Amino acid sequence: MGPYCEFCHTRCFVHFPKNTPQRVLEAYGAATIMATCKKGQEYEKEKTGYCYGDMRDIITHIYEIKETIESIDYDVDSLKDFSNEDVDSIRNRLIDIKNKIDVILADKKYYY
Ligand SMILES: [Zn+2]
Repeated sequence: MGPYCEFCHTRCFVHFPKNTPQRVLEAYGAATIMATCKKGQEYEKEKTGYCYGDMRDIITHIYEIKETIESIDYDVDSLKDFSNEDVDSIRNRLIDIKNKIDVILADKKYYY
C-alpha cells in the first residue's frame, strides 16, 4: 500500500532509516517517508535540504565511525599485556581519542 510518487509514478518511498538525525526529521515535518527516485530526491532536497541519498551517506558515515571505535578498542586491548612508557602513552592516547569520539556520537544534536 501507500502513495504513488508523483515523479516516478511508483511507490518508491521508504521510511526514515534507523539513526536518522533529528534535524532531518524536523526538516521533513509531518512526513514519515522519503522518495528514493532521482527526481523525487531532487524535489525533497530542494524543499527540506535533505534527501534519501544524503541519509545513506550520513548513516554510512556513522557506521564507519562506530567501526573505527571498535578497532580502537581492539588496539587498546592488544596493548594491555605490555608495559613500558611508550606503550602506555600510545594506549592512553587511543583511549583519549575513543572518548572524544564517544562524546561526539552521544551528542544527539549532531547524529540523532
Ligand atoms: Zn519516485
